[in-house]
Order: sequence, then structure tokens, then C-alpha cells
Amino acid sequence: MEQKGILMVLSGFSGAGKGTLIKELLKKYDHYALSVSMTTRSPREGEREGVEYFFTDREHFEETIRRDGLLEYASYCGNYYGTPRAYVEEQLAAGNNVILEIEIQGALKIKERFPESLLIFVTPPSGAELKARLERRGTESAEVIARRLSRAYEEAEGIEAYDYVVVNDSLDACVEELEQLVAAARRAPVRCGAWIREIREELKGFVKGEK
Ligand code: 5GP
Repeated sequence: MEQKGILMVLSGFSGAGKGTLIKELLKKYDHYALSVSMTTRSPREGEREGVEYFFTDREHFEETIRRDGLLEYASYCGNYYGTPRAYVEEQLAAGNNVILEIEIQGALKIKERFPESLLIFVTPPSGAELKARLERRGTESAEVIARRLSRAYEEAEGIEAYDYVVVNDSLDACVEELEQLVAAARRAPVRCGAWIREIREELKGFVKGEK
């Protein structure tokens, strides 16, 4: 069955390990593509232009919004973040599953605009583990960690809007679980529209005696 790829949203608390999870998924399977977002936040140490993000200023970001160059965007902890449209559309058409690693406001906009998208929420096993991971990361000040925990508390309110929750405890198991969820989701009728239309047409031909 030939199909377009699935538009996948991966959200989760900052510190849930989404980045590592996605990296492993891309390494293990070649039918995934990761969308690189545009942001107005400053690069963290080690982050590269065009790899983790396209870093830009507010003026350029707002200009991109105006020319409809983003599939969605949101403001998070004082900065803009958005998904460039062109890459996502190209990859879906090529049959790849496109991963958007975005926060909840963006996730909800994607679901509204693309009801066939698949929304997955990634979480550490507990709140205490989340706090410990944020502290261990060591790239953020105490104030930023506190802000991210308070944001996590807000985001926990929105988990029910997602299609699935995945607990990132063991990395390998989590990668496998994601791949299985995606494989199953591809078989849902809402994501097989083209194939369903085709087989109906074919059957109609038989019924009418055309074939
Ligand atoms: P960070 O600053 O830690 O890289 O990202 C902060 C938050 O912004 C994360 O929850 C991340 O998933 C989210 N984010 C990254 N890119 C986008 C985007 O393009 N759109 C939206 N809505 N959120 C994004």
C-alpha cells in the first residue's frame, strides 16, 4: 500500500529526553524525517545553525509568518518557535514520516489543521525524575529550570489532547514503542484515504461490468 508519510508531533516536558529519542529513531529507521524549527531564542552551547534550529530574529520570524511560510508557530518562555512549511510538505509527499518536536500550543494547531496527524506525548517516569534530569543537564540557570518546571506543570494539563503517551524510561524500548505506534497509525483509515478511494473505484468498475 503506497502512502504519504504521517505528520507526527512529539511533545513532552523539557527534559523528557525527546531529543535523544528522536536521534535514535532516525538512526535506526530511514522512513523518518525531522523538521528543523525556526526560533528567536539564542543558540545554546554546541547548537548549530540549521541542525538543532534555524536561529533568527523577531523581525525575520514575523516576516515568515506573514508570507505563510510556517505550518504553525508559538511563543514559549518569551521566544518564538515555528515549523517551516516547505520541508514538511516535501518529506510527506516522498512517503516519509515527518517528526515535529514542538510544544503543546503548536501541537494543538497542527491537529486542528491536519486531523490525520499523530500526536505523541513523551514523559519521564515521574516528576522527580524530570526535575533531576533538568538539573543534571547543567546548561540552564536555576531560574530557567524553575520556569521550565512551572511550564511542565501547565503542559501536564494538556496531555489528554494527545493520541498517545510514551514513557521514556529505557531508550531502546521507547524507540521500539514509537515505531510500533507509527506502524499501527499508518493503518488507520483516516491515513489510508488514497488507497481506500482507489479500491472503491476498482470495485465499482467490477460491479458495473466495466472490467
Ligand atoms: P528549547 O528552547 O528547549 O529548544 O524548546 C522549547 C520548546 O519549544 C520545546 O517544548 C520544543 O518542543 C518547542 N518547540 C521547538 N520547535 C518548535 C516549533 O517549531 N513550534 C512550536 N510550537 N514549538 C517548538
